[in-house]
Amino acid sequence: MSLFICPLCRGALQENARSYVCGQNHVFDIASEGYVNLLPVNRKHAKQPGDDRNMVRARNRFLSQDFYSPLRDALSARIAQTAPEAAAFLDCGCGEGYYSSGIVEALAAAGKAPRAAGIDISKSAVRLAAKRLKTVEFAVASCYHLPLMEESVDVLLNCFSPLALEEFRRVLKPGGVFYYVVPAPKHLWEMKETLYDAPYENPQVSPEYDGFARAETVSVTRRVLLPSQESISDLFTMTPYLWKTLRAGVERLKALRSLEVETSFDIHVYQKK
Ligand SMILES: [Zn+2]
Repeated sequence: MSLFICPLCRGALQENARSYVCGQNHVFDIASEGYVNLLPVNRKHAKQPGDDRNMVRARNRFLSQDFYSPLRDALSARIAQTAPEAAAFLDCGCGEGYYSSGIVEALAAAGKAPRAAGIDISKSAVRLAAKRLKTVEFAVASCYHLPLMEESVDVLLNCFSPLALEEFRRVLKPGGVFYYVVPAPKHLWEMKETLYDAPYENPQVSPEYDGFARAETVSVTRRVLLPSQESISDLFTMTPYLWKTLRAGVERLKALRSLEVETSFDIHVYQKK
């Protein structure tokens, strides 16, 4: 049985070789790469919602060089250590599956047998994730309408993705754990100094959320040397600064051949009450 449910009638989905089918015979084809599209047409607000192919490719090139591996390792180690034996794991906003792949590997190495699923609104991203990882179910879906049953998830990861708290509360089991990854105040500081005349730090947030107990915050920091204009440009393309930078700032960044930059993340860990 799949972790996913039918987006039309909310019934359980059975996974066959080529499709997912619910009890009411709603059929969702599995693409050749191995993912399924569970985004109902009436919730698709753009032709290709989410990150477009260029952004996805840039992010995939960047992450594949492991510049963000300390974040992946920190998440993997903690989840492998604390997740239950047959944990149901959901990567909400999974992108190309970079974090999922590390976490699923670490769980297996710890002798655990997780059921893992990832969703993202971007079809380009989900396609790459499904190609990368065959042991995880991937679907194109919205985090605001998760195709998952009430109280079905033990561990939920939300890494640089929209915070859909109501849905996270609904799908997590009582006692289930929610990892919320946000940029720390100085994340990408040197890049911002290049882009902006008066850069500002990211706000330090440690919010409390209804229905969740905050367990801890884990900080991960590493200075990274981006060795080429391509790696600098790939990083820029995967940030929101892509949309918020004047031409002069972009020109300054394009003139760089290398850039040493701080990467720093806060992993907020919550437990559902
Ligand atoms: Zn159905």
